[in-house]
Amino acid sequence: MSYVDEVLEKVVAKNPAEPEFHQAVKEVLESLRPVIEANEERYRKEALLERLVEPDRQFKFRVPWVDDKGQVQVNTGYRVQFNNSIGPYKGGLRLHPSVNLGIIKFLGFEQIFKNSLTGLPIGGGKGGSDFDPKGKSDREVMAFCQSFMPELCKYIGADTDVPAGDIGTGAREIGYMFGQYKRIKGLYEGVLTGKGLTYGGSLVRTEATGYGLLYLTREMLKCNGHDIAGKTVVVSGAGNVAIYAIEKAQQMGAKVVTCSDSTGWVYDPEGIDLAALKEIKEVKRARLTEYKNYRPNSEYHEGRGVWTVKCDVALPCATQNELHLEDAKTLVSNGCIAVAEGANMPTTMEATEYLQKNGVLFAPGKAANAGGVATSALEMSQNSERLSWTFEEVDSKLQSIMVNIFHNLDDAAKRYGKEGDYVAGANIAGFEKVANAMLAQGVA
Ligand code: GLU
Repeated sequence: MSYVDEVLEKVVAKNPAEPEFHQAVKEVLESLRPVIEANEERYRKEALLERLVEPDRQFKFRVPWVDDKGQVQVNTGYRVQFNNSIGPYKGGLRLHPSVNLGIIKFLGFEQIFKNSLTGLPIGGGKGGSDFDPKGKSDREVMAFCQSFMPELCKYIGADTDVPAGDIGTGAREIGYMFGQYKRIKGLYEGVLTGKGLTYGGSLVRTEATGYGLLYLTREMLKCNGHDIAGKTVVVSGAGNVAIYAIEKAQQMGAKVVTCSDSTGWVYDPEGIDLAALKEIKEVKRARLTEYKNYRPNSEYHEGRGVWTVKCDVALPCATQNELHLEDAKTLVSNGCIAVAEGANMPTTMEATEYLQKNGVLFAPGKAANAGGVATSALEMSQNSERLSWTFEEVDSKLQSIMVNIFHNLDDAAKRYGKEGDYVAGANIAGFEKVANAMLAQGVA
């Protein structure tokens, strides 16, 4: 049996009931086959793949807090420190009822390669809880965050592990967590990123994932003879990634006609009204059903359906496994030319293969959404030098990082005879740096 197949089998056997983790490992290892085959003897002897798929360590802890009625609630907290061979663990905290260990492990595993692709010195980690901030009062969110941190703070630090936001964790949650960390540890340090601008946050961090997605998408289109200006774009999601992807796409002259949340989706043929969307989601924290009050000519539909809308470019920015094979078939038959993932692993493996086989340019999340964590690393640099950079300075660094990522994965794909396969390119380019660092640092 090939080394890759052997390791895949072990991962499934050793980590039962973690389908998202199996999926993420399979996607990476499958596309690394040519690299592994070229180095099989050494990698086997060093157990490189076995070490890569086993987190350095993982923490699971109880998070009790009191709700507004005086009732005690109990959630489960997680932090998975996956790999720190190229820098301190870095990755967000997801707060969503679906969170379990397998989901955090899939996200942490993806983060290793994503962080490597940024070219910055950050390792891979992820954490979160099954706590749902939706519908909770500010006081309840604070109570949760203040109970989450006394456990989490034992494992993190500016030079060891630096968490940030993800689904459900935004500036409000990071603020409460930072305040509690400072209280417990008595340390004012860059232990979290995505902080508010008055206490160590970086300009552009809020916008970074969405903006970065568009910088990479524009470069991918350009290198394949297309211009983003004038294109019709469909976006899923209505969170931080989706909002700033829509903003940048519009600034680049594209027309974005959809967005979605967990209950339904909006089609606005004249283009999404960004000010309305921001007010609904960022200020009121309300549902997309409200959008029609701002734009009477738009349509609201229950359930899922953004991929049925005819488009040139599709940007899944909601969550994992939200774009299925059927959706991929619809996109292809509607003439879609590019899909770039703003979320982590939003496209199923079958859908990805179908899109690629049918000539759709496909940028995987670990490359396309790396702008968020890259800007987090820039926030860490600013915290270390106790300075803050201007919006233009951070934005121009973000642009170069995203353009570089695209060329790195394009080159890596070409080196292994897989021209245009950006999934393979991203996995190979991300892996090479981490593998070299692991081998150089000995058995650990
Ligand atoms: N949660 C984001 C991601 O998936 C950002 C992580 C960070 O900034 O550390 O990459």
